[in-house]
Amino acid sequence: MAFDYDLFVIGAGSGGVRAARVAGAYGTRVAIAEEYRVGGTCVIRGCVPKKLLVYGAHFAEDLRDAREFGWDVPKDVAFDWQRLTANVFKEVDRINGAYTNTLESNNVTVIGERATVSGPNEVTLASGRTITAERILIAVGARPHVPDCPGAEHGITSNEAFHLPAVPRRILIAGAGYIANEFAGIFNEFGAEVTLMNRSDMILRGYDEQIRDRLLQISMMKGIQFRFNASFRGIEKLADGTLRVSMSGHPDIDVDCVMFATGRVPNSAGLGLDAVGITLAENGAIPVDEDNRTACPSIYAVGDVTDRVQLTPVAIREGQAFADSVYGNKPTRVDYDCIPSAVFSHPPIAAVGLTEGQAKLKYGTVKVYASDFRAMKNVLAGRNERALYKMVCEAESGRILGIHIIGPDAPEILQAAAVAVKAGLTKADFDATVAIHPTMAEELVLMR
Ligand code: FAD
Repeated sequence: MAFDYDLFVIGAGSGGVRAARVAGAYGTRVAIAEEYRVGGTCVIRGCVPKKLLVYGAHFAEDLRDAREFGWDVPKDVAFDWQRLTANVFKEVDRINGAYTNTLESNNVTVIGERATVSGPNEVTLASGRTITAERILIAVGARPHVPDCPGAEHGITSNEAFHLPAVPRRILIAGAGYIANEFAGIFNEFGAEVTLMNRSDMILRGYDEQIRDRLLQISMMKGIQFRFNASFRGIEKLADGTLRVSMSGHPDIDVDCVMFATGRVPNSAGLGLDAVGITLAENGAIPVDEDNRTACPSIYAVGDVTDRVQLTPVAIREGQAFADSVYGNKPTRVDYDCIPSAVFSHPPIAAVGLTEGQAKLKYGTVKVYASDFRAMKNVLAGRNERALYKMVCEAESGRILGIHIIGPDAPEILQAAAVAVKAGLTKADFDATVAIHPTMAEELVLMR
């Protein structure tokens, strides 16, 4: 049977773009459908614009600290949210254009429409046109989950946060994962009164306990308020636009903006997968095997919609592995072990491998080395913020099971150390490496 294309990719985000362009480079006839903008969450409303806001926000501290380094910085420095976001959008447009060019230069047909699956080898576009393909790759990502409570429609998610007309004077952020903590930091640095509320009594589930505690302590010191064990009762919009939020266990709070950062769910609703024999997981995730194959042999899925590890570099690897395996004659599987990750809070966190708690559960006894210090720059600036580096090792062999750090530039510092952890190096290997002095990173080889 002759198909219109060899491969039809649904969703031009991190995973879909990589798979489409690599398959295209192998000479495959590829089309990709995108309902919003090429680049997907990461480029358009995730990692990229977020990181640029984090950079923008950090100037608030840098400008204050600069005085101690001899700079005359006026007391009333002004910040222009509109100027920053306009520049961020320009950069987003540039990357969006670059991604589109890369697809086209690899002979991928880009279709700016929503697509759904209408058969094992057929998709239907929003316009009603049907297209056939030998294989279909679903890379539709995830979307913010909004809790079901009266007045939820008054809240925003990270999607809208980038498009606020101004920095809200008072903002309530619901959730305590990385997105909640990152936006809490961003808005706090820009001068908003920030309250973070969470159902449980902790932030950043999955991260090392001491590192989480350190962020909580520093965030509180910086003025972010926390409300734990709190669930929404409702959000009421008052005549002057104020949002009055009621929640369990705490008094009502009046804010100008409520942002839900309460998790992300796979974007699989209405895709037509039932009809081709694909049963979704309870949260909507598309189940796949190690080769990204779904229950329907001609349909594959990669990225956030499979709910394995919801990170851009993982989606990219899955897309690459799919294209290499199916079209490049290079069978490849993604290795999910030791994936490093970061939280771009103020200060940031970065981690790889097992936390102390996870390592103890798995190995019984472990050795933990730590360095709890104040970065030289913070000392001179009079900034009372301590960094914490932790290394968790197998007791007998000294093999490193995890490294967890919080402090300035933590994600930049951890990436290289993650190579060592992934390679199975030991504490002794780190000890044998001479420090680069004076740096913060040298603490990695000086931990006791
Ligand atoms: P996506 O990038 O979401 O792409 C899916 C695409 O499919 C979208 O463009 C969507 O419009 C399109 N689509 C959906 N349904 C259809 C359809 N039926 N037809 C056509 N098109 C469709 N990850 C990191 O690694 N580091 C970070 O710092 C980071 N920060 C983040 C910050 C925020 C605020 C958010 C929300 C996410 C962040 N992430 C980060 C996560 C990262 O963005 C995702 O893991 C990544 O984008 C997943 O890639 P994907 O290809 O699976 O899906």
